[in-house]
Amino acid sequence: MIKVDNLYKSFGKVDVLKGISTEIKKGDVVAIIGPSGSGKSTFLRCMNLLEKPTSGKIYVGGEELTSPKSNVLRVRQQIGMVFQHFHLFPHMTVLGNLTYAPMTVKGISKSEATEKAETLLRKVGLLEKRDEYPSRLSGGQKQRVAIARALAMEPDVMLFDEPTSALDPEMVKEVLAVMKDLATSGMTMAIVTHEMGFAREVADRVLFLDQGILMEDAPPNEFFSITSFRAC
Ligand code: ADP
Ligand code: MG
Repeated sequence: MIKVDNLYKSFGKVDVLKGISTEIKKGDVVAIIGPSGSGKSTFLRCMNLLEKPTSGKIYVGGEELTSPKSNVLRVRQQIGMVFQHFHLFPHMTVLGNLTYAPMTVKGISKSEATEKAETLLRKVGLLEKRDEYPSRLSGGQKQRVAIARALAMEPDVMLFDEPTSALDPEMVKEVLAVMKDLATSGMTMAIVTHEMGFAREVADRVLFLDQGILMEDAPPNEFFSITSFRAC
């Protein structure tokens, strides 16, 4: 589904990603962990061209994202993204947040978009909040809406950048439960997270990034038994 081949990214003189290569197969869940500043967000953002790679290639669904010929907007529609700080549209209701892109970008009718949105809201347990504005929701509810909003575009891949890091502990669980459901349903996912229990339980592979280099890329069982990691 995703192939990353020798990806480099620099900001000015700062080399942030230094030759990352990996593959994510359809239906795989990959957890990306590593210290702050190691390039995790940059790596994720390169995967949907929110950052332009300095060099290297990225393929999504067989299409080269990094090719000058690729249609960035169309490719981006295939990739949903969920951020630490939700980024909901504050002036739109929950339902509006879910129907806006499908209607404006995909040209889906209002009734169809609404029906789809309601199905997704039911799935994340928030149908009764359909007419609320984001400011009236808890952090956990906001993040579940953000996940539903990304899913409303029917992406092939979902990217999550520390989706639970801004949440109070009691809300972390409800968001992880939604993500676990999604993983079980067969969604291809890349998740930057500090939730080691979740990574161990849900991920097919764990990627450990340090100073822009992929130090480990292994199944959780193997990964969590690596002595050097346990030691730090
Ligand atoms: P992580 O998500 O692992 O904490 P980031 O990918 O956010 O790491 O950042 C990695 C490095 O890249 C940091 O040193 C950060 O300051 C730098 N960086 C990230 N984005 C930019 C940017 N837009 N301009 C300049 N430097 C950046
Ligand atoms: Mg980050």
